[in-house]
Amino acid sequence: MAILEILEYPDPRLRQASLPVEDFDDGIGKLADDLIETLHASSAIGLSAPQVDARLRMLVMDHSPDRSRPELYINPQVLARSRFGFVEERCLSVPDVVAHVIRATRIKVRAFDRQGASFERELDGMPAVCLQHEMDHFDGKLLVDRINWFKRRRLRAAIAKARRAGDEQSGVAA
Ligand code: ZN
Repeated sequence: MAILEILEYPDPRLRQASLPVEDFDDGIGKLADDLIETLHASSAIGLSAPQVDARLRMLVMDHSPDRSRPELYINPQVLARSRFGFVEERCLSVPDVVAHVIRATRIKVRAFDRQGASFERELDGMPAVCLQHEMDHFDGKLLVDRINWFKRRRLRAAIAKARRAGDEQSGVAA
């Protein structure tokens, strides 16, 4: 198992589309384990494969208080949505941004496990919201697309400033 690097906005790789998993082989099992380890090393409750530069439609979540029950969803499909609400979301790939978005808070999902067996599950509350957020990553959608233009501009300016500061530091080191 390994803790993987998490891509951060505005990395263009976060915008690329992810493909369905077709072969449920050892590579997929290893990626699943690495995703879980990376999730558990972070403060987040969900992590999507494209966030670690693997463009496959798989994600992990862990909503247990002691983070002992990771769940893996491969090729998830939302079958039904109900009870929409305003929710607050954060994303490991877009640090320091909190977005208020409308999501279904109750969903029914079909997905595959690491052996390629399909299952269906009903999710309620945060798990439902989190799964939809992680699925957005499959299509290159990010929280920044859901915040207003003014906030987005401020975020870009902050990133540019941090980069300039980084360049100055490396200049000094060189
Ligand atoms: Zn995210």
